[in-house]
Amino acid sequence: MFFLFLLLCATVAYAQEKPLKPRPDAFPPVPGALDSKAVTMATTIEEMAGWDRYPTYETYIAMMQDWAERFPGLCKLDTIGTSIKGRLILCMVIRGEGTHNGANPEFFYSSTMHGDEVTGYVMMLRLIDTLLNGYGINQQYTDLVNTVDIYINPLSNPDGTYRNGNSSVSGAMRYNSNYVDLNRNYPDPFGTAPINAQQQENTAMIDYIGNHSFRLSANLHGGSEVMNYPWDSFTSSENPHPDRDWWIEVCKRFVDTSRTYSNSHFRDVNSQGYIEGGDWYVIPNGRQDYINYYHNCREMTMEISSDKTVSSSQLPEYWRFLQHSLVNYIAEIHTFAGNIGITDAEGSPSAIRLYPNPTHDKVFLQGETDSDIVVLDIKGREVMRLPAGTQSIDVQHLPQGIYLLHTGTQSAKIVKR
Ligand SMILES: [Zn+2]
Repeated sequence: MFFLFLLLCATVAYAQEKPLKPRPDAFPPVPGALDSKAVTMATTIEEMAGWDRYPTYETYIAMMQDWAERFPGLCKLDTIGTSIKGRLILCMVIRGEGTHNGANPEFFYSSTMHGDEVTGYVMMLRLIDTLLNGYGINQQYTDLVNTVDIYINPLSNPDGTYRNGNSSVSGAMRYNSNYVDLNRNYPDPFGTAPINAQQQENTAMIDYIGNHSFRLSANLHGGSEVMNYPWDSFTSSENPHPDRDWWIEVCKRFVDTSRTYSNSHFRDVNSQGYIEGGDWYVIPNGRQDYINYYHNCREMTMEISSDKTVSSSQLPEYWRFLQHSLVNYIAEIHTFAGNIGITDAEGSPSAIRLYPNPTHDKVFLQGETDSDIVVLDIKGREVMRLPAGTQSIDVQHLPQGIYLLHTGTQSAKIVKR
């Protein structure tokens, strides 16, 4: 009882401090909240045909495998890793036929790291289906798939979603099976250590991201309808993202497009439908800032449904107003060049690239270097100097942390694990 009183006081104090609707991410889940929703499950691929059901875990796996078998020239099924309880964390990689040469930029969609926020889970499955079946028929989808390598991870916290067993998403929870919030469990670029040890689901995700060069991504959540752009760790007045103006344009296009299909959405946080994350609510150790900072990938958090779990019969309506925005967002990868906030006068990509990054031993350097390569620690002290043309740098002896590599006028971050 006393605890409830404290919670109430804290909530009242918070509400007075923050004029905006509190970020749902900040609160513990309401047990059983999903049970009041009408959740119909699909136990076969055929039962997903109307897209008005949630798939059982087995149906989900079967759908992903089915696409991989039916469209072998167009997609491949990757396993990012497994959850603590051994469920698969999958990613569908969609590439145009004949474009498997690594020349296209890589895009990443990932959903439902909060297990009960399942609208995005079905939206991502339907997006995979739409792109694969539309290739060669719909010009926009064909052009997109031919010019971008599209990675889609529909479910990044399967243990949370299927907490009560593989046969239903009823009773899903936010956390993984260790009751850890995966979106407070990433290395924080700005110095806050996560409360919990890095969870298996996140380690797998970090490795997967580290093995790719995603340039644009989005992380789908529910509980509100707002486009949340970086940073989450700061308010925009404290530390604006270097690409803030670009983010705002992208958010406007996403929201405007969805509102042409349903004008009532993206209004529950503010009227414009987008916000800088920290201006809404500052959070540490989130995935969005981690990816932006450590991987030079522009990631935003899309809160796409006011209800964390919409009734299954409402799923087609969410697709109707989101589908064009979700597709168009992938194409935003063509609206910028290069690394975050770092472009030369022509706006062409920075010429050097480091991989793998983060790394624990070696980092390889791709691109021309014609002057000394200098590695500085976070305090600006030189820790290594290598001749121009060096292509592999051994960082095993360096303590964990962030380092800055400079050569000529170019610079890049190295993250030592
Ligand atoms: Zn969430």
